[in-house]
Amino acid sequence: MDLKSGYPYWAVKNGLMRAFPPLQADLRCDVAVIGGGITGALIADELAGHGHEVALVEQRDVGWGSSSASTALLQYEIDTHMVDLSRRYGEEDAALAYVKCAEALVLLQDKARDIRDVDFAWMDSLYYASKHRHAKTLREEFELRLRHGFQVELLEYGQVQARYGIDAPVAILSHQAARIDPYRMACRLLARLQKGGSHVFDRTLIESIEATSRGVALRTNEGHAIRASHLVLAAGYANQRWLKKKVAQNRSSYAFITDPIEGETLGALGNTMAWESARPYLYLRSTGDGRLLVGGEDDSVDIPARRDARVDKKAGVLCKKVRRLFPDLPLRPAFAWAGTFAETEDGLPFFGPHPQHGPRVHFAMAYGGNGITYSMLGAGLLRALIEKRKHPLAELFSFRRLDR
Ligand SMILES: Cc1cc2nc3c(=O)[nH]c(=O)nc-3n(C[C@H](O)[C@H](O)[C@H](O)COP(=O)(O)OP(=O)(O)OC[C@H]3O[C@@H](n4cnc5c(N)ncnc54)[C@H](O)[C@@H]3O)c2cc1C
Repeated sequence: MDLKSGYPYWAVKNGLMRAFPPLQADLRCDVAVIGGGITGALIADELAGHGHEVALVEQRDVGWGSSSASTALLQYEIDTHMVDLSRRYGEEDAALAYVKCAEALVLLQDKARDIRDVDFAWMDSLYYASKHRHAKTLREEFELRLRHGFQVELLEYGQVQARYGIDAPVAILSHQAARIDPYRMACRLLARLQKGGSHVFDRTLIESIEATSRGVALRTNEGHAIRASHLVLAAGYANQRWLKKKVAQNRSSYAFITDPIEGETLGALGNTMAWESARPYLYLRSTGDGRLLVGGEDDSVDIPARRDARVDKKAGVLCKKVRRLFPDLPLRPAFAWAGTFAETEDGLPFFGPHPQHGPRVHFAMAYGGNGITYSMLGAGLLRALIEKRKHPLAELFSFRRLDR
């Protein structure tokens, strides 16, 4: 599956950070993890850190899938408003999803601090109404978030204009958001794992999965077998290949990054990410080296050849949109790219077993605009399931919610 087009900035900036050997013999372990992106890396790290013998396999070079194309805004703010999740699943579950995502940001900070040098930084997040008719929803959303203890401010037209120079009828300013270099994070986590004695293999494609009541057997493209008590499928958007019925829609998303911009010119954008209420949304955030990263212009279906052809044109459209908001910013795309991402109908991820494969095959589908936050939550959730412990999100993030 071709997951990206153009020049994702992280891949260019970091180069090929880490290579691992391919699997060249049969292997046994407690937990096999398919996928060496940020999701597989976080889950493998969580499991290995708690005494499980882990083997992770990646078909390409690690981190080279959608994790290298991610713009990596870390947010508790799910693409589906808390008010909409409340209507669908009740206020308790909606608040649970939001609160746990906020907690995941702190877990990501701790992890980043632990492995160091992954460009993690706390930021504010400005969610502005793109249209007057969205203002009422944002006010409702603000009230609900405030009621559940989030650090939010409601900014009226004059305040959004004065602080950020954006003409928006209203905006929610959150003081809980962050950024990271997702490719670097995945590579450094996997390097640490290997150093700690876990198995990490790249250039190893898993072609078949066979699950029984006692374990899981995997077969690689070279004919080697991996036998494990449990399997975690962290194969990103390719995960759906292992399901008869699709549970999410793959889309293409576009991004570009500028050369470094002087701190004063970036102004409040230096430490505030901004995104809008229109769908698909335009979003922007700074990087540690003072660049501006801009994304959006999603296609509703992901067709790699079409995506490849559209990168430059889409970057031009994104540029025009940001210029309309900030006419004085020196905006010239230094690198532009596109990647596959997936969306579930309700904006929530799926973590856990699917009836098609039985209880030993755990899916890790961190789908949605804040996939990395979900991956962090999924790490704790899947460890709990493997260790046969309860987890507060086990039900809400399971495939069982499709039957509700
Ligand atoms: C343009 C763009 C912007 C985004 N912006 C954000 C954002 O701002 N914030 C955010 O949180 N998220 C964002 N996301 C989403 C986020 O990037 C994803 O949630 C995350 O990268 C998914 O990581 P992953 O490890 O699940 O998938 P991947 O990084 O794709 O990793 C899965 C890996 O599995 C491997 N694999 C698949 N099948 C097999 C097999 N059979 N055998 C061996 N290996 C296999 C693949 O090669 C791949 O490397 C964005 C995504 C894109 C594309």
